[in-house]
Amino acid sequence: MTPDYHCSELRIFEDRLRHNAGVLKSHLGQEVLQMSVIKANAYGHDYKIVAKALQGYTDWFAVATVREAIQIREVGITEPILVFEPPQPDRVSAYKAHNLTAVISDLSHFEILEEETKAHIECDTGMGRLGFLPEQLAELSKAIDVHGKRLNLEGLFTHFATADQVNSSFVDEQRKRLNLMKQHLPAFNLYYSANSSALLNYPEVHMNMVRHGIALYGYDPSETCKDLKPVMEWWAEIIQSRWIPKGWSVSYESTWKAPEDGYLAVIPVGYADGLSRNLSGTFEVQIEEDWYKTVGNITMDYVMVFTGAKKIPVGTEVLLMGGKRNDATILGKASGTIPYEILSRIALKVPRISR
Ligand SMILES: *Cc1c(COP(=O)(O)O)cnc(C)c1O
Repeated sequence: MTPDYHCSELRIFEDRLRHNAGVLKSHLGQEVLQMSVIKANAYGHDYKIVAKALQGYTDWFAVATVREAIQIREVGITEPILVFEPPQPDRVSAYKAHNLTAVISDLSHFEILEEETKAHIECDTGMGRLGFLPEQLAELSKAIDVHGKRLNLEGLFTHFATADQVNSSFVDEQRKRLNLMKQHLPAFNLYYSANSSALLNYPEVHMNMVRHGIALYGYDPSETCKDLKPVMEWWAEIIQSRWIPKGWSVSYESTWKAPEDGYLAVIPVGYADGLSRNLSGTFEVQIEEDWYKTVGNITMDYVMVFTGAKKIPVGTEVLLMGGKRNDATILGKASGTIPYEILSRIALKVPRISR
């Protein structure tokens, strides 16, 4: 066995996860169910930690793939699990074997799913990714007639494309299209549409269930809800603290030069850990009470910080992400992306530690 030496870790604060679930619940009517989206290793937070922490705090879980769903069952989760991926012939038996709920988004799915498989129907009301178009209502209705008894059809849902904008008329357009489809189809137990943004920005689309992902992890894409707490903190220890002279250049392409004699702290996290090279020179880290700008290009395994006259001892802890000045929204903006990508691309080699 390789010893578990590591250079940085992700601290996952379970109490913040439950706090965020509670904040989201406070936005909902009494009867509205909560589905927690824990695809992509729970947006990088570790599906095992997150699923266990949310047991009893969520009504449903959702994941992207059958494989993710089976992994979640294997850690003893008993809540219903919705699997977003379109059913594939090679894994249709897994739904019943592991008590998973399929998403039907094409006529062929009605045919390939096994008898009595639980399923929800996805409508493409404007997301333009997966689901039945309003134009397909007649054929969808017919397929429900033919297969409705054979399968266990429980719900109808859609996904918004623009709910992160606070006044998007397209959300209303999508809401109307879903309602139209709903009216022309038989009744289901569950109707839902809201992701995190729609949950926070558009109470009129809550229906009887919401699907929250990013907000659970502490991020509101519209940055209006101030009650959410980032669940993840990325910590590393300084691995070298070295003196360099004024004018000495740092890292590949020599893009940054020391403004004075002073100390360079070398932090053992790089783009192989998921710290995008696009963040080079753009973000700050916290060391004890102080904030320092990272300097020079991020390398595969290291990022550097200039600490001036102060020599910070090797082994001192550095907060790389998740603090006030370096949360995933700030890092996303600094590198031309969104907090979803910052969180979900942290490499699996970085251990996730439950707090
Ligand atoms: C990822 C995803 C969600 C969750 O979205 P958030 O913006 O993270 O709340 C909901 N529904 C579907 C279909 C998704 O793919």
